[in-house]
Amino acid sequence: MTDLTLMTVLAHPDDEAFGTGGTLSQYADQGCDVYLVTATRGEAGQIAEDDLATHADLPFVREQELRCACEIYGIHPPRFLDYPDGLLPLIHQGQAVGKVVRLIRELKPQVVVTFGPDGIYGHYDHIAVHRWTTIAVDMAADATCFPHHVSETCERHQVSKLYYRVIPHEQIDAMRERGEPTAMMMDGVPFSFVGPPMGEITTVIDVSQYVEHKLRGIRCHATQVGRENRFSDAPEQVKRDPLLAHEHFVLARSWVGWPAEVETDLFDRLR
Ligand SMILES: [Zn+2]
Repeated sequence: MTDLTLMTVLAHPDDEAFGTGGTLSQYADQGCDVYLVTATRGEAGQIAEDDLATHADLPFVREQELRCACEIYGIHPPRFLDYPDGLLPLIHQGQAVGKVVRLIRELKPQVVVTFGPDGIYGHYDHIAVHRWTTIAVDMAADATCFPHHVSETCERHQVSKLYYRVIPHEQIDAMRERGEPTAMMMDGVPFSFVGPPMGEITTVIDVSQYVEHKLRGIRCHATQVGRENRFSDAPEQVKRDPLLAHEHFVLARSWVGWPAEVETDLFDRLR
């Protein structure tokens, strides 16, 4: 065991699977305390196969799918902010930030990961979670922000590093060249993937040892990806896909200095 704690804050069950599943698995395997906080239960999304869930039980089914994935990554069971899927921009920002502040003070992470301002593909829920978490990291360190009458603890906690989970622009170009979709359809409208160029990416985690964990985590999310999908039997070429073997982050805030070159560890300078 280590005394290192990683807390990731995302919007929907399955948001963790593609871009952070390997990273979560790797740090859990190293003995770090790894937490995943998810704002919603994903109940507004499509059901991949009709017999997997009904719209009535979808929140429950997606919670169980996320619990399944967390078990495979070897991390703590998921924490939920209990907000409605698809409506995060309408949530009172102060209330949502307060929930994240309380979790930061309870779990005491040195490293926090969330979406960047691009929300991967401009998803309005992702962008809301990005804002809440970025503000909460600052407020958790300020004992005057949330006095004890609205919080279980007034004890301040200073996060050391805040990272944004991103897709490199070059990877999106490569997907387009291979003829793969580079947008997500939402409400009948395409939302294109957006990401910073490699030159702006501060941190690349090689998760090639954890691709199997990641694929098993993806498979837990059956109502999202279906029972049969390109990851279901994980042929060798899927396992070697560079999209799966490396996960990319931008160091957005640091209280322990800045890397001179590309980092390969979220806990660089903290060990
Ligand atoms: Zn999402």
